[in-house]
This record gives sequence, C-alpha cells and structure tokens, in this order.
Amino acid sequence: MTGIAVLGSTNMDLVAYVARAPEPGETVTGREFRTVPGGKGANQAVAAARAGGNVTMIGAVGDDVYGAQLRAGLEHAGIDTDLLHTAEGPSGTAHIVVDDTGANSIVVIPGANGTVTAIGPGEMAAIAGADLLLLQLELPLSAVVEGARVAHAQGVRTILTPSPVLPLPSELLDCVDLLIPNQHEAAALTGFADPLAAARHLLSQVPAVIVTLGAKGCLYAARGGEPVLFPAPEVTAVDTTGAGDTFVGTLAVALGERRPVPEALAWASSAAALCVQRPGASASMPYRTEIDAA
Ligand code: ADP
Repeated sequence: MTGIAVLGSTNMDLVAYVARAPEPGETVTGREFRTVPGGKGANQAVAAARAGGNVTMIGAVGDDVYGAQLRAGLEHAGIDTDLLHTAEGPSGTAHIVVDDTGANSIVVIPGANGTVTAIGPGEMAAIAGADLLLLQLELPLSAVVEGARVAHAQGVRTILTPSPVLPLPSELLDCVDLLIPNQHEAAALTGFADPLAAARHLLSQVPAVIVTLGAKGCLYAARGGEPVLFPAPEVTAVDTTGAGDTFVGTLAVALGERRPVPEALAWASSAAALCVQRPGASASMPYRTEIDAA
C-alpha cells in the first residue's frame, strides 16, 4: 500500500445558501445552511485514502465541536490522525455564501491550522516513512518548508499544490518534486496566462509540473521531455468543488504504486471526473473500485 503523509489544513466549511448575497450593512434571510468538512489538506487525504492509500494526516484541529467532527470524519475514512493535534481554540473554518447564480464569497479563518508553525520528531518520522508527502499552502509557510525539507532529505517524493497562491521561496521549490497548480494559480505564479508558457517557466524551478485545466484536462511537463496535454473524460459536471484535490490525492496513490505517469494521469483524471458528477467536496470523492470501473 502506498504510504502518503499529508501536511495540511483541516477546516469546517460553514455554507449559507441565499438568493442574493448581502451588501455591506445589509441582512438577508438565507434558504439553507450546511456544515461540510473541508480544508485542502484533509480533502487530499480523503481522496488518497479512498483511492487505496495508507494515509497519515499531519496538522491541527481546535478543541471545539468542529475539531471532534473533523477528526472523526478523517478516521472514518481510514486516515491515521495520531499526528493531527488538538490545539486550544477554534478549528479552522471557511464561511461560504453561495447565491442562486452559483457565485460564492468565502472568508477563511485558519484557527488551529495557524498553530502548525513547525514540525516535531513524530511528524518527521511519519514523513520519512512515507512514499510521498502532499503539501498545500493553507498552513503557515514555515511548517510547509520544514516538511518539504525533511521529505527531500529522506528521498520522499513531494507534491505541492500552490493554493492559496503566494510567492514561493526557493528553499521550498528546491524540495518540490511535482508542482500541481490549476491554470489560475499557474498564471498568478508566473505571469503567463498560457498554461504551456507557465509550465515551461515553472520547470526552471521544479523538475515536473502538472497544470490542471478543468474540463480540458491537464498539461504534464517534466524536464527533458515535451509537455503533453491529457484530456479529461467528457462528463456532465454538477459540482466541481474538490476536483483538484481528488486529482492530486488519487495521482499520489498511483505514483506511489510506481505506475507510469500516463497511466497515473488517466486514473487521476477518471477519479476527478467522477467527483465533478456528484455534489459536495470530500463526499463526492470516488473509491478505488469506482475509479477502476470508470
Ligand atoms: P481546481 O479544482 O483545483 O480548480 P481544476 O478545475 O483544474 O482544478 O480541475 C482539476 C481536475 O479535475 C482537472 O484536471 C480534470 O481532470 C478534473 N475536472 C475538473 N472539471 C472537470 C469537468 N468539468 N469535466 C471533467 N473533469 C474535470
């Protein structure tokens, strides 16, 4: 089984559905409220676990009711949470308002995620013992850099999802084996709107890049080879939330199984296509048997 360590965020998404989002100073009555487990780290962990990975989640939840729910959800998915610490104070939350056009506005409050500023001996051992380390940018950068360094020093492959986009220090990029931005993140990181130009630029900083292109699929580029476009399966999307995290978590499992890159990309694309055909983020992530059947 592929061992995957995820050093990342765990949030509770608090979602309000309204006809029209309120203006500043205005109060509106909404239609529905849902709490949905999220955070890019936790979502990638769930995707990898459902795809058959042996996953360890490294991070923190708060000592509130959301923290207990988030931990229980990850454990239910078969994820090891021994290194998911419980910090004093609130869990990370995302306050999301979705209007009738599907447009959303979001406030993220890092909460407990913000307490993960460094990693300890237990985390180092878990990273060293994994086949791959998945990183995103929803934890303090100091911890992300430290985690990447430990993995790199131990020969553990690292995959970074640069979300939310921030300037990436060279000390981090030097320890990244595969960078997976979506097309907006790729453009923001490089200044090139064209994904091919962005990918070529990023190859000067990391050995391999995948720019995800939504319904168009993804562009894979590695040093020493020509970039290749992998189209996505044609499906009817109902909710694309979590597509990118499904893609990354599933891809990590396939790469850990030493499958050739084209096969791994096809498998991850099938998984992400299944995810977009169902509502929800982690709830819509497919299980290994479903991905194989697709
Ligand atoms: P993010 O969710 O991070 O914004 P993308 O929108 O680029 O990332 O989607 C990630 C991957 O999910 C794509 O590379 C593709 O494989 C899959 N995907 C996303 N939207 C669709 C869609 N409408 N149809 C099929 N696959 C999709």
